[in-house]
Amino acid sequence: PDLVQKLEKTIQNIPDFPQPGIQFKDITPIFLDPKLYEEVIKDLADFSRGKIDAVCGIESRGYLFGIAIAVALEVPFILIRKAGKLPPPFVGEKYDLEYGTAEIEMRTGQLKPGQRVLIHDDLLATGGTTEAAAKLIEKQGGEVAQFSFLIALKDLHGTERLKQFDAEVHQILE
Ligand code: IMP
Repeated sequence: PDLVQKLEKTIQNIPDFPQPGIQFKDITPIFLDPKLYEEVIKDLADFSRGKIDAVCGIESRGYLFGIAIAVALEVPFILIRKAGKLPPPFVGEKYDLEYGTAEIEMRTGQLKPGQRVLIHDDLLATGGTTEAAAKLIEKQGGEVAQFSFLIALKDLHGTERLKQFDAEVHQILE
């Protein structure tokens, strides 16, 4: 409640970026306020405490909070990267964008079969990216236990798309 109000004041809404009609949420002012950043991490870490064995963060803003969650909970952090950046061996998952396709990748062997995973990103929009991340975890024998976000954009129905995974979902702001 208090945290929600602080974040609403801090996160900036930029109309028509990067394209006309898009309301871009700029989270970068959070990093100007270390106390607020700490509160965000505490909220996200509290949600996942005792429930996960690893955190997977989605490039690149998912790293900004994901790694701090993992350190707070003393569990491994694994990077999910956009295609073409990781050296082999890696596994990938393609997904559809509004125009064309994209792909995300993870180093093989970092996630152990049976591990309960938190998938974290800064923002949930259509859920396409997060859905692909969850499939990538399952492909490697991991269990998608939780999703967390700073922000979920309600109108785009990302939360409904994640229901297929039978995992807990948490967002600080809607
Ligand atoms: P989705 O795949 O449609 O759910 O889009 C989510 C991805 O796009 C996340 O990795 C976000 O970081 C990014 N994204 C989409 N819209 C915004 C925005 O308004 N602000 C910041 N990131 C965004």
